[in-house]
Parts: sequence; structure tokens; C-alpha cells
Amino acid sequence: MAKPQGKCIFCGGSRLTHEHIMPAWVGRLLPEKATGFSKGGPAVRRVGDTFTIEVTPPRAKQGNLLGKTVRCVCLNCNGGWMKAIEDAVIPVLGPIVQGESVKLSPDQQKLVATWAAIRAAVYDRDDKKVSAVTQLDRDHLFHSRFPPESWLIWIARNDGGKLWSPSRYWHEIAYVGPRPKAGQPLQANCHLSVMSAGRLSIWVAGGEGHQFAPALGARLKTLGGTQIWPAARTSVDVALVDDEVLTDITLNFAIVR
Ligand SMILES: [Zn+2]
Repeated sequence: MAKPQGKCIFCGGSRLTHEHIMPAWVGRLLPEKATGFSKGGPAVRRVGDTFTIEVTPPRAKQGNLLGKTVRCVCLNCNGGWMKAIEDAVIPVLGPIVQGESVKLSPDQQKLVATWAAIRAAVYDRDDKKVSAVTQLDRDHLFHSRFPPESWLIWIARNDGGKLWSPSRYWHEIAYVGPRPKAGQPLQANCHLSVMSAGRLSIWVAGGEGHQFAPALGARLKTLGGTQIWPAARTSVDVALVDDEVLTDITLNFAIVR
């Protein structure tokens, strides 16, 4: 039997293409080719009645992040509005990938946040069965070209530590909320991605689980990094963080209450 034709996660169109998790220009800037990606633990686990999240720390997974693609966006999106964002972001992020200290204007913060939100939405479709990004959020990205308002996005320069450099993608989803009625399927409703490319690290959190984003956001604010979504009204310096901070971010996904 022929495989059913998938639909573009943004516009609903057909003619799907393979979208790279990390675009090729990132690979050209990295000193080494050895790269990895990782997922946390089991995709969806529930503990207790409310604010029920359980994850495991990141672990290395075999594979080259730079070769990894997800077939979920159409030719028009990939080569159109998504390419325009990609082209615009290269001169902004390129220097950070290579470890330069930079300032980001409010417009640059929004651009980088949008680019990162697209990566998170694409990676989320790596396994459709456990997807946590809602169609409403994808529609928002597609129509406004900005991340959903409730999402939270940070950027940092990492210190080149071994766990998170030269390239790593960590993604975790969970269900947060009241216990579903018996027999109701459990659908993940919040997500956190931590992506590193060279010395660039970005983390993206979102979800409709009640109070999830504010609760996680309050914790992540204390860890370091520079918040770029919601964007600041002034230019901001991209903060320097180490491996420990990036790992702490992933662990905080598990202990939000
Ligand atoms: Zn499309």
C-alpha cells in the first residue's frame, strides 16, 4: 500500500521536502563534524495529578545532527518564507556560532527567536505520535512569522564544553495538567528544545499546559542566558554560559511545579 501523502505542518500543502534540523551553513562553520542529537527520556510520562512532568537528563545518541532531516514542510514553505528567514539569520548567528561576542537589536532578537521556533516546530514532528507543538502554534508561526506569544526563547554563547558542543539538539515533551479521564489518550502539551551549534546555544520552551510556561520561565530566568522572546526593547549582549547551565536547563523541565 502506498504511504499516505503528508501535509506541510505550516501551510497544509503537499510536495513535502526534507527539512534539516540544523541547516548546512551551520556545518560549514563548525570545526568538527562529530555531532550529536539527543532526546530526553520517554516522550510522555505522567506523575501525580497536576504539573506532572518526568524526564531524564540528556544522553548522547549516535548520528550526525547535521545530516538529520524531518520530512514535514513543503517545497513552497522551505524555499520561500523559511528560506528568507534562514538567509537573514546567517549573518546574525554566524559570528555567535564561531564564538564572537555580539549584541542583538530588538529586531535581531525577534528574527533569531523565529528561526529557533521554526527549528523546534520541525524537530517536534520527528515523531508525529508524540508531537507537542499545536497546529494553532504552527499556524501562528506561518501567518505572523513570529513565535507564539506564550513561548519563551533564550540565546547564549556556550564555552565549548564537550557535552553541548560542537553540535547537539535536545528535545523533550510532556503532558502537564489534570489527570485525563480513564481511556482518554494522553497528548503531550508542552515542550523544551535546547540546541547548540558551535558556540551558539538557544533554548525554546512552549506549551499550553496551564501555568507551564510561566513556571518554567521563572526558573530558567535564574540560570543565565539572554532572553530574546519576548524580545527586549533594547539591544542585549549574548551571555556566556557553560555546559552545566545547559544541562540545568534540561533538568528544570522536570521539576517545574
Ligand atoms: Zn508549506
